[in-house]
Amino acid sequence: RSWAESKLRTELLKAIEKAGYKTPSPIQMAAIPLGLQQRDVIGIAETGSGKTAAFVLPMLTYITRLPPMSEENEAEGPYAVVMAPTRELAQQIEDETVKFAHYLGIKVVSIVGGQSIEEQGFKLRQGCEVVIATPGRLLDCLERRYAVLNQCNYVVLDEADRMIDMGFEPQVVGVLDAMPSSNLKPENEDEELDEKRIYRTTYMFSATMPPAVERLARKYLRNPVVVTI
Ligand code: AMP
Repeated sequence: RSWAESKLRTELLKAIEKAGYKTPSPIQMAAIPLGLQQRDVIGIAETGSGKTAAFVLPMLTYITRLPPMSEENEAEGPYAVVMAPTRELAQQIEDETVKFAHYLGIKVVSIVGGQSIEEQGFKLRQGCEVVIATPGRLLDCLERRYAVLNQCNYVVLDEADRMIDMGFEPQVVGVLDAMPSSNLKPENEDEELDEKRIYRTTYMFSATMPPAVERLARKYLRNPVVVTI
């Protein structure tokens, strides 16, 4: 029931305290341990539940285990991608992510429509660990080779049902297919995972589960834990 029990690193616990988050919300209590174990998660939760920190904190923890971005690896792209249906939501997610990423020296870039794509290409080429994006603009950047996702193994689909409603299914799929599929966990849940390697972790948040969202989940998530709050 407390942050101290959450096994998050000290820097993050300090940032949480600075943010004034006294206790973890129910979705955070349920989803953070799963994310730390790199389990896939379907979260049925609304804005206001604290769902952003529920995926941001395990995502940042995952990144701290990887080599820092340098000239050697930044050309291979970010370590994590968050997709959201609207610029406004992407902005809120960016604010919440930077609040914590700042303490870990993790760079966050947001890629949304309505801004200069050339400038976004420039930002992407400078390297970052996390990209927060609307799916159409991110796919556009990938098609222009402004970025690749060769080492992206942590992905969040926020408000998946809204992204589908807005017609973004092909763009979401296009972005997911640009990540290394060799890192998807095995479909068979009895197959043992190799503790030494990295698998793709996928978080999907949705207020509802229409067939198109289920289809995405079946194709890209592996034995997800469904968290309903
Ligand atoms: P979200 O559902 O992620 O959009 O978060 C809703 C609001 O709650 C945001 O303004 C967060 O900064 C805030 N928040 C998230 N987690 C907590 C927490 N554990 N305690 C207090 N506020 C929180």
